[in-house]
Amino acid sequence: MTHRLSYRRYALEFRVPVRTAHGIWPVREGVLVRLETPGGDVGYGEAAPLPWAAGETVDAIEAACRRLGEEVDPAMLAAVPAELGCLRLALQTAGGQLPEVQATSARPVAALLPAGRAALPLLGPKAEAGFRVFKWKVGVGEVQEELGWLDELCARLPTGGKLRLDANGAWDRRTAERWLDRCAERPVEFVEQPCFAAASEGATAQQKVEDMLLGLAGDYPTPVALDESVQSDRDLARWLAAGWPGFYVLKPGLMGDMTGGLAALRKVGARVVFSSALETAVGARSALHRAFAWDGEIHALGFGVWPLFAEAALNGPTATPFIRWQDVTALDPEAAWNALS
Ligand code: MG
Repeated sequence: MTHRLSYRRYALEFRVPVRTAHGIWPVREGVLVRLETPGGDVGYGEAAPLPWAAGETVDAIEAACRRLGEEVDPAMLAAVPAELGCLRLALQTAGGQLPEVQATSARPVAALLPAGRAALPLLGPKAEAGFRVFKWKVGVGEVQEELGWLDELCARLPTGGKLRLDANGAWDRRTAERWLDRCAERPVEFVEQPCFAAASEGATAQQKVEDMLLGLAGDYPTPVALDESVQSDRDLARWLAAGWPGFYVLKPGLMGDMTGGLAALRKVGARVVFSSALETAVGARSALHRAFAWDGEIHALGFGVWPLFAEAALNGPTATPFIRWQDVTALDPEAAWNALS
């Protein structure tokens, strides 16, 4: 039984260029796939790896789609190589292979604050809008100055409010210790990725940083979260085996098939934060579906990122303090697909 496969590669300018540890990121690139069954059912998926990630590229995804051709059977889809994890997930999603969602109660969302001092005047209005968890990028400016702003932010938190600090791997061990020391008595939910070494820096450097992260997680009361360190199902398996005691920030769109990994996380009672990879409405729907399917402890979602693109049909749900299940099912992948034509 053959299915009809089509795909559209996109390059979409962000409304506001994204500041990352790898510099300014102006354009999101990826591929949308559309799969039609012999019975006429249509599904969509999105494959959009991060441009600085090792391995899967948008070029490779496009080439694989071209090779698959217009007429595909399920065996061909299952034979897409494991290295193309984003594409495999996109094809599974387009084929309707999604986990069952049991609990559809609304999930809290973390508010994004800009890096530096600019965060200060924004916390109050966001708290008034109903947000209770606030994410602030750190490791961008001078340490002493940022530590001062941390205190000012803490003073402005609403009752029960918490900060998430994301260093994007910017710190060395000493700086990380200084921050974790300071966070100990403060309402900080976790410190995300204090240090990082990419696979391209070599196995020794990577091992050293991983040992450092485990050490930091064991030495301080504030939990440490992994983000850049867990960019694939293989990374996840490695950290699970190491008994990682902190949070996992998982971007479902980048992780390939997480079914086994999520079951393992659930089994050890891991703390998981589901997060956006700055995808279009197609990837947003798939990633949020997976976030809602998680039946472990719930932590505020890292999906407060939209609108990212000028075209409304391409955006995921607009950042609000809660995302409801109907906000997810209301996302229209067909409209996003059509917006790319
Ligand atoms: Mg992060």
